[in-house]
Amino acid sequence: MDLELLKVEEIERVLVVVAHPDDAEYGLSVAVNSFTTAGKEVGYLLLTAGEAGIRDMEPAKTKALRAHEQRAACQEVGVEHLTILDFPDGEMEYGLDVRKAVAKEIREFQPDTVAVINFDFSARWGINHIDHRVTGKVVADAIRDADNPWIHRDLDVEPWKADRLLISGS
Ligand SMILES: [Zn+2]
Repeated sequence: MDLELLKVEEIERVLVVVAHPDDAEYGLSVAVNSFTTAGKEVGYLLLTAGEAGIRDMEPAKTKALRAHEQRAACQEVGVEHLTILDFPDGEMEYGLDVRKAVAKEIREFQPDTVAVINFDFSARWGINHIDHRVTGKVVADAIRDADNPWIHRDLDVEPWKADRLLISGS
């Protein structure tokens, strides 16, 4: 499939939504760096703190370490807006609660473009992580939710339409 090259000048604000600290650093952050270098605003939303990501380390310690690493990684590519939510690492499920959390961030941050990583069943390394698969589906649906004034009416944030979904490494 031939894809047209993305015209960076057509985007202004990008919201990156991933499941874990370091997900964006497997390729997507290269694109982020080109956006911020071109003067675009980029924000990150992490749905989990990645607390289950290191086998030999207690979740509370892992959580703090990975937040620290993510802040440093964001600094490297000129990203100041970083939100880390507390959905359970490794146990994410598709549902209205997480769709609502993403829709809320889209309405508040007001991106024209949302970016995710590959959420296919397969990834370069084998079977893709369940949290990645869930996150991609959630984000695709939350983009639509965010623009619908009759969905998540209790959020008390104006609807917002993001026009474009970028998928890295798909
Ligand atoms: Zn991950």
